[in-house]
Amino acid sequence: MAAILIQNACLLPIDEAMSIIDRGWMHVENGTIQAIGSGEPPRIEGAELIDVDGNVIMPGMVNPHAHLAMTLFRGLGEDVDDRLFRYVLPMERKFVSPEMVRVGTLLGALESIEAGVTTIADMYYYETEVGRALDQAGLRGVVGQTLATFDPPDHKTIDQGFALVEDLVSEFSGHERIVPSIAPHAPYSTDIDVMARVARWAEDHPDVPVQLHLAEMDSEMEWCRKNHGLRPVAVVEKAGLLRPGLIAAHCLHIDPFEIERMAKADVRVAHNARSNAKAGRGIAPIEAMRAAGIKVGIATDGPMSGNTLDLFSQFGPVSMFQKLLGHSRKPMPAAQVIRMATLEGAQVLGLDSRIGSLEPGKQADLIRIDLSAPRMQPIYDIYATLVFSAMPVDVQDVMVGGRWIMRGRKVESLERKEILRDAGQIATAFKAEMARIDAAG
Ligand SMILES: [Zn+2]
Repeated sequence: MAAILIQNACLLPIDEAMSIIDRGWMHVENGTIQAIGSGEPPRIEGAELIDVDGNVIMPGMVNPHAHLAMTLFRGLGEDVDDRLFRYVLPMERKFVSPEMVRVGTLLGALESIEAGVTTIADMYYYETEVGRALDQAGLRGVVGQTLATFDPPDHKTIDQGFALVEDLVSEFSGHERIVPSIAPHAPYSTDIDVMARVARWAEDHPDVPVQLHLAEMDSEMEWCRKNHGLRPVAVVEKAGLLRPGLIAAHCLHIDPFEIERMAKADVRVAHNARSNAKAGRGIAPIEAMRAAGIKVGIATDGPMSGNTLDLFSQFGPVSMFQKLLGHSRKPMPAAQVIRMATLEGAQVLGLDSRIGSLEPGKQADLIRIDLSAPRMQPIYDIYATLVFSAMPVDVQDVMVGGRWIMRGRKVESLERKEILRDAGQIATAFKAEMARIDAAG
């Protein structure tokens, strides 16, 4: 790929000091960042010069927990208390197919790109389709095949589930942007002997990250107590899954002792502030987790529970909930929120040697954010502006591995119209099924 020299940027490299480089420049070549600096850029023979007119250039954002295909369930039965059992689970059993997963994931990929998210950890069914869709979108993904014992749509037995995992691994191992992953659903939905089998399998596959939901709900606490006499973290530990690199989503019900155990085990956390709040579940103690050294990323969860796949709409809740917990303005400063959305998210996924910050040698995953909207002006603290004022629509350009996948808000890697049409067709079938369920009483 030809050399690119970006200049006149407000550069946020996400280094240790969370520096802000005014009039910054960056040299990208062969998909990687060659150099960054401030002031007069160097002369590079044959390089394409891009003057970004003082816009922010920062790393592409990392979403460490999502179910992209669930875009198709977004807003369905929003205020129906038992919507999961009334609509969602029966409809998943009826409609989830490789084609539905493909279309839903493409819709989610489109939304992610338009919001400046360049890496997503996903867990769902037919996950090979998710890997293919993210590859087509030009995004990075950690794609986790779900394993569960509640009769999920794509496997009747755990052996069949493992066969899907093996297919996923053989299709994507060594892929430059797609990382295959294994995803036991949660302690209450994946039997302890299955989690133990996953732990043994993971020992033999150190490059395949393990993802699961953990300590998310009151009913999960109750289930673990009744069935194991333990709290969820202890159940996962008993199964041998509390291991380095585990990507644990939610982690609301975590006490100080468990924080210590998780930090020691090098477990990482995907924080889903908005979806947890919408379900009335509570607030994860992420300030305490980060103080103990646990890496915490900002995640969206599936769009059925969180509605959007952009991180901007997470920033307010992520920051404000910790301030509410601490009864102070001080917890979770804006710069730390942006750090979690980028480098720390990459650390959660074990990808921080390649992405998450703008430094020479790393992959050129970057986004350009326009600051000219009235709601962004004036600017005293760029991080506060990004956390509390910026919106997905302010993202102008998105690059992954040196390739522009969005320029001037036009996604170049995907066919927008086709995806919206296909998603609309599936939603029509979903609406008919909901009417049928309602008519049946
Ligand atoms: Zn989830």
